[in-house]
This record gives sequence, structure tokens and C-alpha cells, in this order.
Amino acid sequence: MKRIAIDMDEVIADAENRFFEWYEKDYGIKIPMEKLHCRHFPEIVDEQHMTIVKKYPWKEGFFKDLGVIKGSQEVISELVKKYEIFITTAAMEFPNSLVHKLEWLNKYFPYISWQNIVFCGDKSIIHADYMIDDSVRHFKRFTGQGILFTAPHNINVDWNPRVNSWKEVGDMFL
Ligand SMILES: [Mg+2]
Repeated sequence: MKRIAIDMDEVIADAENRFFEWYEKDYGIKIPMEKLHCRHFPEIVDEQHMTIVKKYPWKEGFFKDLGVIKGSQEVISELVKKYEIFITTAAMEFPNSLVHKLEWLNKYFPYISWQNIVFCGDKSIIHADYMIDDSVRHFKRFTGQGILFTAPHNINVDWNPRVNSWKEVGDMFL
């Protein structure tokens, strides 16, 4: 079986939306999603809020009960029949995320065994045939084929192949 490594944030888990939620809660400002075009959330807020917003992912609860990226559950439930699927996330950067990420995976992807979950730092340690990720930096030293999953921040990033949705991942692999 070929092996596919799949990222969490902005690929199967909607962490970006948590920034919008917390920012609105803290400052009462609702930012339209479209502003995110080609940028990460901390770059679109008021300059005086930037330092605090940048630290959100390190705070307790940021990764708790995130939304699920549309179509990921359905497509991955089919992929596991034909491929070895690993969830690979650079979670070590955010120590408070570990328990919540694991709980989240058990809740929304219960058919993925703990043996197929990799919480890591540098993803170049991952050995797989394909890696589906929204950050091309993880492809630099990856020996397999990196597949860029479209997110607002990477719209202008030059990478091929790219997939815009889980439907497109299904079309590519199933
Ligand atoms: Mg990601």
C-alpha cells in the first residue's frame, strides 16, 4: 500500500476560524474571512493587537473542538481502504494542543488508529509517498510528493500539484 501523510490544521481541522472567534471575543471586532487572502490571521489585525493574536495558538484551548474541513471525513474514510494513512502534525510547537488534537482525532476520525497518528516537530522525519499539507515548507526535505492543500494564506504560492478541496483529493487518489 502507498502511504499518505495528512496534515491537520487547515487540511482537516479548521484552526484559522478559531483566530476569528477569539479575536471577536477579545476585541469585539468581526473580520470578514475574505481579508485573509494570501495572509495569515495575525497579519490582518490591528497592529496593536498583533503580538497577542500571534500567541493564540500557544494558549490553552485554542485547538479544542475545532471545525472539520468539509469533505475530509468522507474522503479519508475511503482512502484508508486503499492507502496507509498517517495524520502528521507539527504539534510539538504548541504543547497545549496535544491532548486536544488527540481528542479531536478520536472524535472525528475514530477509524484512524493511534499507531497512525504522528505528533512531530520537523516533518522531514516523515517517510511517505505523498504528503497533503497547506505549508510548502514541509515539502522542502520530504522525499515523497508534496501536495499543497489550498488555504487562504497559500493562494499565491507556486506549487504543483495543488488540491482545492477534499473532493479533489478523492478524484486524485480514489
Ligand atoms: Mg497545516
